[in-house]
Amino acid sequence: MAEAGSFADRVKQQADIVRVVGDYVRLKKTGKDFSGLCPFHQEKTPSFTVSPVKQIFYCFGCGKGGDVFNFVMEVEKSPFPEAVRTVAEKCGIAIPRPKERSPEERKENQQRALLLEMHREAQAFFAKQIFGTAEGKVARAYLEDRGIDNKTIERFGIGYAPSDGDALLRVLKQKYPEKVLPESGLISRGEESGRLFDRFRRRITFPIANDSGKIVAFGCRALGDEQPKYLNSPETPIYSKSNVLYHLDRAKEALRRSDFAILVEGYMDAIAVARAGISNVVASCGTSLAEPQIKLLSRFTKRVIINYDPDTAGQAATERSVALLLEQDFEVRVLALPPVGDKKADPDLFIRERGAEEYTRLLKDAPPYVDYLIGRARKMDLTTGDGKRRAVNFLLPYVQKIPNAILRSEWATRIAQQLRLDEPVLRAALTKAAKERRSEVKVQPELVSRPAKPVERRLIRMLAEADQFRREIAQLLQNENAHRGLETEHIFSALIAANLGDSPIQATEIAAHLEEQDRRVLFEVLFEEAAEPNWEEAQSCIEALRQRQAERELADVQRSIEANPPGPELRGLLEKKQGLMRRLAAR
Ligand SMILES: [Zn+2]
Repeated sequence: MAEAGSFADRVKQQADIVRVVGDYVRLKKTGKDFSGLCPFHQEKTPSFTVSPVKQIFYCFGCGKGGDVFNFVMEVEKSPFPEAVRTVAEKCGIAIPRPKERSPEERKENQQRALLLEMHREAQAFFAKQIFGTAEGKVARAYLEDRGIDNKTIERFGIGYAPSDGDALLRVLKQKYPEKVLPESGLISRGEESGRLFDRFRRRITFPIANDSGKIVAFGCRALGDEQPKYLNSPETPIYSKSNVLYHLDRAKEALRRSDFAILVEGYMDAIAVARAGISNVVASCGTSLAEPQIKLLSRFTKRVIINYDPDTAGQAATERSVALLLEQDFEVRVLALPPVGDKKADPDLFIRERGAEEYTRLLKDAPPYVDYLIGRARKMDLTTGDGKRRAVNFLLPYVQKIPNAILRSEWATRIAQQLRLDEPVLRAALTKAAKERRSEVKVQPELVSRPAKPVERRLIRMLAEADQFRREIAQLLQNENAHRGLETEHIFSALIAANLGDSPIQATEIAAHLEEQDRRVLFEVLFEEAAEPNWEEAQSCIEALRQRQAERELADVQRSIEANPPGPELRGLLEKKQGLMRRLAAR
């Protein structure tokens, strides 16, 4: 782990756990600590706590806890060395050349670095085309028509892929071996001829960045009538469609600030909304949201307004996305824009025609998803029993996906009212749906820690933190074995060993080697409000332990006496008993 003087140790000294955790969890200052909703278990009230002073985190709900590296390892599911690098990167600490790793890993890393570099090159090339060529001028005129001026083109890195078919290929060929070019997804290989050519031709290019702002793919729109209208990068080692949200890298701050996200379908919509001054917008870049995208978004907010296209595909995508977001416990609203003239309006068109102000107003009034869905259901034929049944069947799955039981039953009642359902069968179906769902994940009772006595808690805290005399406490306890037999014995043993050892004491390190229950007690003690310790208090705590030790011994002796052992043994026990009683009476 983080050995003294190692790179990991240096990173740990410099890193700020609040900042790192803040990239994944929305934290709020509560007293001297920060708290938020735990990323490791489902919860509605924050029990996840981060201490900037101790540089540790702990969840009072599920019991996960540790230092900044433990957090990143857990949340990113990455091994220790990877977590150290991640933390270093986030904190702007220069990373030394990585130690030799397995040849495959090294090859993969090199490949990823190469692909990122090729995307940077491609971006520079496309950007040059749109401003510097005759074809680019046509592309700009087209964008101008859609309300995208030069400033916006620059701001969003919009570019142009020329029509001649190998313009980018010629550029990339000068720097990279031919055989790696198709791996980038920027260059394709003819199936029969084996000849290489540009994947994107005569298209406007939109760079797609991952959440750290590195370009990993392009989304491209045909300039003319070429099909398909939209053509994106294929999946590559650096790009997976379901792992990227367009504009997230630029939306992060606004998402945290506003605590909600506007989810749109395509990059043109995202750009239109962002240009209107609403930066907390992301695009799924596809007709439906994928689970990894939702997980990604949940690092920044758990409230979403879906604003997809009003066409049939958009409606279906809205419904699928609602279902997925509900499963991840999101608060979901849906904005269905009214038509502009006789045209169904996507965000891009709507903002162009009606202006940003009107859009913002509608956004504010966007109804909760259930109202949207009920609205959809009400458009079905509700005059017949069959029609009503269809409407209920349309709504049931959503009701079942609401994780919260009370909410679920509230919505069931509301749906019954709105659809004017009085047939008992349909009501019963809704009520059943409302009940059938595991209620919120509860913390298993056996995992809830045993309450350690205040004296023990105090001593544990001092052993971990009272630098002036923690070694003395450890030595005393070690000599007298006063912690033996306590429920917290294992925590004490670990802390004593650490205090009497040579390396600096690290609570998270000790915690890592304890069993679940003990680990929880240790973390809880570390997060307790506590006054500055002093030596007198330490002594009186140890004295209390001595007393309890004597009491325990006395109880043991008494039990042995009652077992009525043979004469000599009994005499010894009686003597011991008297000694213990004298000791206890002296206090
Ligand atoms: Zn938790």
